[in-house]
Amino acid sequence: MIKMLLTLKNLYVAGNGKKILNGIDFQIRHNEVQALLGPNGSGKSTLAQVILGNPKYEIIKGGIFFEEREITKLSMEKRAKLGIALSWQSPPAIKGVKLSQLLEKISKIKFESKKLDLTPRFLERELNLEFSGGEKKLSELLQILSLKPKLVIFDEIDSGLDIKKLEKVAKIIKKELVAKGISILLITHSGTILRFLKPKITNVILNGKIICKEKDYKKVLRTIRKYDYEKCKKCKLLAD
Ligand code: ADP
Ligand code: MG
Repeated sequence: MIKMLLTLKNLYVAGNGKKILNGIDFQIRHNEVQALLGPNGSGKSTLAQVILGNPKYEIIKGGIFFEEREITKLSMEKRAKLGIALSWQSPPAIKGVKLSQLLEKISKIKFESKKLDLTPRFLERELNLEFSGGEKKLSELLQILSLKPKLVIFDEIDSGLDIKKLEKVAKIIKKELVAKGISILLITHSGTILRFLKPKITNVILNGKIICKEKDYKKVLRTIRKYDYEKCKKCKLLAD
């Protein structure tokens, strides 16, 4: 079995000519949960988009490897087919398309609302139209489950959710993804989700660079709450 699922090597990225990522080194294995923590504007969503292959971003230097194959220049569609999925921070609403229709198109199997403890009515609503924050996250999660991915990136799945809703989402992630060996990158600036899905490594990003890789996520959360992100610069890097 291939050990490394995704590798980012010395990645420099710009958006509209502005440098956003400044030398990112990152690796995640099969069957592994990792976290990426950083303040607003540090480059978290950009990193997620670059892994997904969003052409809006220009790769200035470095490479992206999936199961040890270089995918730096591969289209978003091809990457999705390889098994990379992203839950968007702000998914768009699509009028006229029911969630159930979209899910069936992706997976070609009828979606069982019962299995996931959902009301059938929810699946019959138009995509993200007047969805609450929690419903949007749930809808993103269902789309991801339909894709049968190998790696799922959750971009701020914990923002705007109360603890109860977050717990429900985390339970589905645990049962349907983590238990099946699917790797997960949890992107968060609040860190709330980490309590439910205990990452093996917590990466801290500041100004487009990963400045810390730490095994104890609680330590990272404590440090940030007490001293802010600047203190993380003093952490010992695990992997480099
Ligand atoms: P985060 O998700 O950590 O809050 P982002 O990755 O969204 O951060 O953004 C990092 C920085 O890059 C911000 O200053 C943001 O304004 C800028 N940025 C993001 N996308 C683009 C883009 N397409 N063009 C120009 N600047 C961008
Ligand atoms: Mg973001």
